[in-house]
Amino acid sequence: MESLAELRSRALACTACPLSERRTNVVFGEGDPKSPLVLVGEGPGENEDKQGRPFIGRAGQLLDRALVDAGLTREMVYITNTVKCRAADWSTGKPVNRAPTEVEAVTCREWLVPQLATIAPKVILCIGAPSAKNLIKKNFQITKERGKYFPCEFAKTAIATLHPAYILRQANISGDGGYSLLVADIARAWEAATRLAQA
Ligand code: URA
Repeated sequence: MESLAELRSRALACTACPLSERRTNVVFGEGDPKSPLVLVGEGPGENEDKQGRPFIGRAGQLLDRALVDAGLTREMVYITNTVKCRAADWSTGKPVNRAPTEVEAVTCREWLVPQLATIAPKVILCIGAPSAKNLIKKNFQITKERGKYFPCEFAKTAIATLHPAYILRQANISGDGGYSLLVADIARAWEAATRLAQA
């Protein structure tokens, strides 16, 4: 099987979809590839595109805080996204982040699928609905189904949680915008991952 480094260097040259035309960097993923837990977000935003690293903007800072509150650090997990290049609407001349289209997400499985197969995590934590729809099931309902275990082709199990960008936009879900749910889901995913790694 191709190594993660080889896969990464091929991904950095990808031109399989139009997102490649406007990107600054391919955001392949980072962290511990031996971790039993992989976090998969939606796709890079402006900061991630500039620096080539996942989850480093405002949402990423909230995710870092949630990892710490769940007893972890970023270095203990591997973090990536369903699409590796920034999706933005350029119609006004100034890029505005948008959700990746289904075609973009399907095209980018060329990288995500072998990436997950190489890492072979025990648990995948899908960050937000688009990731859960991509990796768990098409009709995933994030508010009803987050925090539950689901079968997954690429790990022993997968769990989904609220996206930190969504939490930042909420005025109130049980008082903290859903932040405590994010922390609880991370803790639950880590507990399952370490238990499965020992089995
Ligand atoms: N949102 C995501 O889903 N991924 C990132 O890397 C940054 C923000």
